[in-house]
Order: sequence, then structure tokens, then C-alpha cells
Amino acid sequence: MNSESQRRCGTCLCGENRFEVAGHIKGIGQCHCSKCRKVSGTGGNAVFLVPVPRFRWLSEDVKRKQFQLQSGWRTCRCTECGSPLPESHDGKRFWVQAGLMDEPLNTKIKTHIFCGSRADWDQEANDARHFDEMMLS
Ligand SMILES: [Zn+2]
Ligand SMILES: [Zn+2]
Repeated sequence: MNSESQRRCGTCLCGENRFEVAGHIKGIGQCHCSKCRKVSGTGGNAVFLVPVPRFRWLSEDVKRKQFQLQSGWRTCRCTECGSPLPESHDGKRFWVQAGLMDEPLNTKIKTHIFCGSRADWDQEANDARHFDEMMLS
């Protein structure tokens, strides 16, 4: 299967919202802005862009709810589990949260934006400890 015909599935935490992305994924963009920090509860959002024709919802009855600020900035959530969900802001491309994908993406984080408002803790200590699973006490 060549990269252009490859299809990858994504799901929210509860699995009610399922979607499919076709073709090559160029790269992941990490946003460190204050809004993405709030909606993710962590350092920001990691997303990639997909042209609308290459994005498809697989679940028939999409359970999602949109929240919009007065400025127009908005985010979409699963109504069951609260996971963030892909949406299109311009009718041309879908913003897809990389963490929703269930398969390897064969790409990396290639862009960081809103680094100027990055949280002071959003960096790794040189001696940060890493565990394959939950930290043992
Ligand atoms: Zn869900
Ligand atoms: Zn952001």
C-alpha cells in the first residue's frame, strides 16, 4: 500500500466518535498558546492538517459539542467522554489532534507555534525520569 492510499483511524476516548484520515501526514504542529493549554489541560495541542476530502467521519451519529469564545476561537468535544475532536475552521482543512490517532503516523513534531506564551514548566528537566508505564512507588 503506498502512502497516498493509506488510511489511518482516530477515535475519542470512549470510541463514540471515529474518523479516518487518508494519505500522507506531512508533520505535526504543537501549539503552546494559553487556549490550547486550557482545553488540553497540559502544555498545548499537537495537531496536523488534512484537506477536507481526505477526512471522513466513520461514526454515523457524531456525538460532539462545540464551545466558542466571543472572539470566535472554538473547540469541539465528544459529548460522552470530553475528548477534543477534529473540526474544520475554514471549510478546506480539518485540524486533527494527533493524540486521537490509533496508528503510527510516520511523522514528527515539525512546528511549534505560540512559543512566546509557552508555560514556564513546558520543558523537560535534564534529569527527568522516564518509565515505560506508570511510575513505580
Ligand atoms: Zn468520546
Ligand atoms: Zn493554540
